[in-house]
Amino acid sequence: MSKSLPKRSENYSEWYNELVKRADLAENSAVRGCMVIKPYGYSIWEKMQRALDDKFKETGHTNAYFPLFIPKSYLSKEASHVEGFAKECAVVTHYRLKNDPETGGVIVDPDAKLEEELIVRPTSETVIWSTYKNWIQSYRDLPLLINQWANVVRWEMRTRLFLRTAEFLWQEGHTAHATRLEAEEEARQMLEVYAQFAEEWMAVPVVKGVKTPNERFAGAENTYCIEAMMQDGKALQAGTSHFLGQNFAKAFDVKFQDKEGKLEHVWGTSWGVSTRLMGALIMAHSDDSGLVLPPKLAPIQVVIVPIYRNDEQLADITVKVKQIMQELRKRGISVKYDDSDAYKPGYKFAEYELKGVPVRLALGGRDLENGTIEVARRDTKTKETVALEGIEDHIQALLENIQASIYNKALAFREENTVKANSFDEFTKILDDKGGFILAHWDGTSETEEKIKELTKATIRCIPLDQEHEEGTCILTGKPSAGRVVFARAY
Ligand code: AMP
Repeated sequence: MSKSLPKRSENYSEWYNELVKRADLAENSAVRGCMVIKPYGYSIWEKMQRALDDKFKETGHTNAYFPLFIPKSYLSKEASHVEGFAKECAVVTHYRLKNDPETGGVIVDPDAKLEEELIVRPTSETVIWSTYKNWIQSYRDLPLLINQWANVVRWEMRTRLFLRTAEFLWQEGHTAHATRLEAEEEARQMLEVYAQFAEEWMAVPVVKGVKTPNERFAGAENTYCIEAMMQDGKALQAGTSHFLGQNFAKAFDVKFQDKEGKLEHVWGTSWGVSTRLMGALIMAHSDDSGLVLPPKLAPIQVVIVPIYRNDEQLADITVKVKQIMQELRKRGISVKYDDSDAYKPGYKFAEYELKGVPVRLALGGRDLENGTIEVARRDTKTKETVALEGIEDHIQALLENIQASIYNKALAFREENTVKANSFDEFTKILDDKGGFILAHWDGTSETEEKIKELTKATIRCIPLDQEHEEGTCILTGKPSAGRVVFARAY
């Protein structure tokens, strides 16, 4: 293997950037902030998509597709929405290029100016609600439960592979309901779906909460979120679910006739997770040797490397390996046999470590004689020699064990790094010492929130849903507070 990765303890940020590239997940492109997702990275994303999509279908949603371009006038129909997104919109003004006789190059054809400029979608509420106007007339048309898998563009100034890109892939759910209560329940339900996915598939524990008005989605009445802790103690917002009230229904005049024949505005939600989840996955578990992937999302769950002296020995090993592979595949376990002679076993081991393959098996001539096989797990980097007899059961159980241990490790880390602060001094000291989540009292005002951010770079990640009622005083202003909120520096 080429030179080793930077160490997390020395330069976490450099470690992350290098890992994403070396593990063949993604790379930068010619356009700043736009990434190329490479096949290995994309296969992890596909696994995420599949699991999420199944969950959306189980909860009654269906997929559809809406256009990439949004007429500029649509975006401004909901006042706070346009205000929130205006600063990061890509705008299409022309539809043709022409040859420039002076330079011999091509230029935008000034005669091909669009009558109405188009926005490349930063999110699709406006185009979708303009469509819902035609789809919804009566209570019989509700609820409307739709999801779209798409790419969106937000012209972000500070970008980083997966975590914050100018173009990203995501899913966006957009639902319409007859009552406030039903829409609120939908927003909460999808937050649960995201939390379950993060914990059960990604093995990343999350705090579920509500965003403060400052951090709320532009155009929402309420934004729910899941917040995860990365290994450097920083927070990452991993998913959001918005209760939109009747804001978009009013902006696009979407009304329905209720059972009594009365016309009412529809209630809405929207919710999304993006390729940022890839960043969360990498940052939450990986180590200085490379990726650590939870088995449920690993494109290759088991790799088998033969250790042989000659072709004859390789042939014997291969016969046994084929049997094991067949058995593993029957159980739905993805397995790769790397018998290429281009690289030595040691090189292959390092490579699969870098790629985060959860289980590595090495089978040699002596193992065959002894009826054993070497089993190495990526998360703990431990090895053991196991009987070939019953190896498939062993591996199946091991994969489940790894999935659970990775989660438990991340949970223990989060718990260790979640502390209470009762004064501003204590708060800044914790932030500078080790970071993490700080549970502190806040007076509930945007001014205080802004001031704390300005002074410390820490933001309120959320008001946790399981917040305990606890009378206290704001760490900055000393004004009364009814419960602690989660502060952290964040990506
Ligand atoms: P929002 O529509 O702002 O609530 O964002 C929906 C989801 O997309 C959230 O889970 C965000 O974490 C994620 N997201 C927002 N901006 C970006 C970005 N620039 N790159 C990647 N993911 C993003």
